[in-house]
Amino acid sequence: MTLDALRFDNAWARLPDDFFTRVSPAAWKNTRLVDISPRGCRALGLDAELFSDDSPSRETLRQVMGGETVLPGMEPLAQKYTGHQFGVYNPALGDGRGLLLGEVETDDGFWDLHLKGAGQTPYSRFGDGRAVLRSTIREYLAGEAMAGLGIPTTLALALAMNGEKVQRERVEPGATLLRLAPSHVRFGHFEWLYQARRNEDLQRLVEHVITRHRPALAECEAPAEALFGDTVARTARLIAAWQAYGFVHAVMNTDNMSILGLTLDYGPYAFMDRYEPTLVPNHTDTAGRYAFDQQPGVGLWNLSVLGQSLTPLADPEALRTQLAEYEPALQQEYARLMRARLGLENVQEGDAQLVQDWLTLLVDAGADYHRAFRALGEWAVDEGEWLHEEVPAEGLAAWLSRYRQRLEEEERDAVSRRDAMQAVNPLYVPRTHLIQQVIEAAEAGDMAPLAEFRALLADPFTPRPGMAHWAAAPAPEASVICLSC
Ligand code: AMP
Ligand code: MG
Ligand code: MG
Repeated sequence: MTLDALRFDNAWARLPDDFFTRVSPAAWKNTRLVDISPRGCRALGLDAELFSDDSPSRETLRQVMGGETVLPGMEPLAQKYTGHQFGVYNPALGDGRGLLLGEVETDDGFWDLHLKGAGQTPYSRFGDGRAVLRSTIREYLAGEAMAGLGIPTTLALALAMNGEKVQRERVEPGATLLRLAPSHVRFGHFEWLYQARRNEDLQRLVEHVITRHRPALAECEAPAEALFGDTVARTARLIAAWQAYGFVHAVMNTDNMSILGLTLDYGPYAFMDRYEPTLVPNHTDTAGRYAFDQQPGVGLWNLSVLGQSLTPLADPEALRTQLAEYEPALQQEYARLMRARLGLENVQEGDAQLVQDWLTLLVDAGADYHRAFRALGEWAVDEGEWLHEEVPAEGLAAWLSRYRQRLEEEERDAVSRRDAMQAVNPLYVPRTHLIQQVIEAAEAGDMAPLAEFRALLADPFTPRPGMAHWAAAPAPEASVICLSC
């Protein structure tokens, strides 16, 4: 299979005329490929070998990412949507710096090919339509990491750098990311049509999403309600996973919420180092609206906006009933994930408290969130010192004796438990300071750290020799890195 053989079936381009605007990607100068994702290749059914050095497909991909060409069958367009940003409705949104190049049909479903950093569109407002190397690296690594953790996310096929200079807080190298998602439909797509009182088009959008992505719901008597219920359930599971793995999205505006429950639009996100429930990595979020511990509540708020947008098509009471499923679903999934992280197979009454008290210990100790779980996994076998080094809290011994007691209610032997724990407790996480090192190397022309870290994140549970550097917490004296969109 070659790149030219990708099959496109661009359903979005067949939707009503103002759902999008056709725009050609801007041609950037001196584009070069920086990294290609084996996971992205697999998603599209492409053999990564296809892109070996000097291959024709590699050159074609480079040209696509530089806006020099489009593949046969692509129909580039910018999608229109709106959304609530920091609680305020903004009607003037849409793809402002990315284009849906086309929708690839594979044996397992559809993949949007979305070129981020493709130039200005009618929805760019005051933006330049460009992306920078720094933020595309951050998005690229986050997608790989999420997928490695088993958390729903957009992916990318490849990252390219170009010779454009882009003004941000400083002048930065330009870049593009070829993003993959089964769909880029956001809550904001529905809000747009609801606010414009376009009920027939709203209905078409619901039908489009169901036909393409949720065919099992097509038979339901009330499709809009069924789709909402599905999105509630997926969003609950998604945010439960963010909470369990210490991920802060940081810009949970409704235009960044996926109807399929994917992690979408990575900006000033962070995977926490020290366990810090009120973490706000986005320095422009001064009110802390999108703090780590606010995410479950924001998810509910965002879903209620989506539900409101579907009221022309569904019984509001039925939508409310679906929405009420969110909190219990999130709690149940969070409990399931945390039990697994603690190595608990069966369900016991005090488990939630045991988890809560563990987290309190981590706060008291200023412990590193990821390393603490990893150390606990080893402790399950050796009762050794590592855990005490990672979690130097006074209450640790008392908590461990409760934990030891709780483990007696389990059937698994210690080694199997340790192995199961380490299969869900990552060693390699895209920590802000590590990504920063990758970015600095890349900006200086060294792309090797990016490929190395990407490969580790794809399987974050398996220790690799000589790679301890990528599992390290930041030095305590390291200044906090502030992030912007
Ligand atoms: P975000 O905060 O990244 O989710 O973006 C919010 C909106 O602003 C979306 O409609 C983006 O397409 C648009 N946008 C963000 N950055 C740019 C940019 N550099 N140029 C044009 N539009 C942008
Ligand atoms: Mg149009
Ligand atoms: Mg966005």
